[in-house]
Amino acid sequence: MEKNNPQCLVCEQSYQTIPLINLKYQDHDLWICPQHLPMLIHKPQMLVGKLPGAEGMKPSPHND
Ligand SMILES: [Zn+2]
Repeated sequence: MEKNNPQCLVCEQSYQTIPLINLKYQDHDLWICPQHLPMLIHKPQMLVGKLPGAEGMKPSPHND
């Protein structure tokens, strides 16, 4: 991923078209859009292959 061209790690939209949230994880500098932030919180296993180490992340429980 180009560091000077941030894009959502899920949908690959750039910050030119959607607001992106910067994630710092291990040595990685990652970006995710608000649309996919809930996926990171509740379904990190769906990010395996996109987010390094996602297979080791625990989903946050939610009660809704
Ligand atoms: Zn996205």
